Amino acid sequence: MSSVRYNGVVKSFGAFNVLKSLNLSVPDHAFLALLGPSGCGKTTALRILAGLEMPTAGQVLIGERDVTRLQPRDRDIAMVFQSYALYPQMTIEENIGYPLWLRGMPDQERKAKIAEVAAVLEIDHLLTRRARQLSGGQRQRVALARAIVRNPTAFLMDEPLSNLDARLRLTMRGEIKRLCQRLGSTTIYVTHDQAEALTMADLIAVMHGGDLQQLAAPAEVYDRPANRFVATFVGNPPMNVLPVKADGTDIHVGGARLAIRGERFDACRAASVTELGIRPEDLHLTEPGATGSMAGEIYVVEPMGNETLVDVRVDGGRLTVRADRGFRASVGDHIGVSFDAGNACFFDTAGKTAVH
Ligand code: ATP
Repeated sequence: MSSVRYNGVVKSFGAFNVLKSLNLSVPDHAFLALLGPSGCGKTTALRILAGLEMPTAGQVLIGERDVTRLQPRDRDIAMVFQSYALYPQMTIEENIGYPLWLRGMPDQERKAKIAEVAAVLEIDHLLTRRARQLSGGQRQRVALARAIVRNPTAFLMDEPLSNLDARLRLTMRGEIKRLCQRLGSTTIYVTHDQAEALTMADLIAVMHGGDLQQLAAPAEVYDRPANRFVATFVGNPPMNVLPVKADGTDIHVGGARLAIRGERFDACRAASVTELGIRPEDLHLTEPGATGSMAGEIYVVEPMGNETLVDVRVDGGRLTVRADRGFRASVGDHIGVSFDAGNACFFDTAGKTAVH
């Protein structure tokens, strides 16, 4: 069993509560991304699991074992850091084999293990080199190899790709995902990059201000965000948010009447929703004055190659719309924006998603 559980974990530095009361369960074999902006407490949560930091209150369990008070070396986990943390004076072979050497594994067995993981990570031709003779991507593979070779119960990874250039990050993203699937071990992966979380993880835990905001599968986090924070943090460009006004019969947004009726309308009224969230891909540019559309004015046009992002000013705010790559318009042009209200979500005054 290699499930991981945080039970009411609190961490304070002086008067500052970095983790307020974290309750989080990661099932056996799952790849969980701990996602959130800088300073939200994700590294602290990982360090507590690793045993590098002691919680102020609460427990951490790996499998059924309460490891809260165990030394890092007794937790049977392996950590991969952003900085790789390789030993410069050792060869790559020695770096990878170091955890096994510490355990006292005989030379021959150790060499065989190193060869096996080096082959998996395709770094077998680098074993006699030293870390400084390797590229960033190769060093990251060595750091992964050193983690794998220990055959741990769980892998903890702290922004392992952030020192790589954009292209290599994409390649390694796929490789780490494949590797974790192949090994089947539980992985906790800290990142502030929502694209990494969405593409790699089975489950995403979104954190903000020391609190867990949502724990769900990537598609659920994207399609049914729990609140305004998650809605605008996950997705690039982010979800658009506009104020809404409800009267006895209708909901209005950006000067247009929303085509929602029945139960959804009643739920919006009952929750006194104040804002609507809608993704850029659920908005459509139309002729000005088209039925049901918001009246807008083009603010910025950004051709991206495969598509064009169009920022439009409407009554109550600005919207980003994903348009075709052939879209042509000039700043200041008048335009209509229509949308399918079926894909919108509605937030209440506390920013909670009241209606999906
Ligand atoms: P980042 O992505 O920038 O690393 P994070 O979400 O991982 O951010 P943490 O590193 O967990 O955030 O830090 C959360 C907060 O706790 C930050 O405000 C940080 O300054 C503070 N903090 C972390 N470690 C300590 C410490 N040892 N002493 C005091 N404050 C700390």
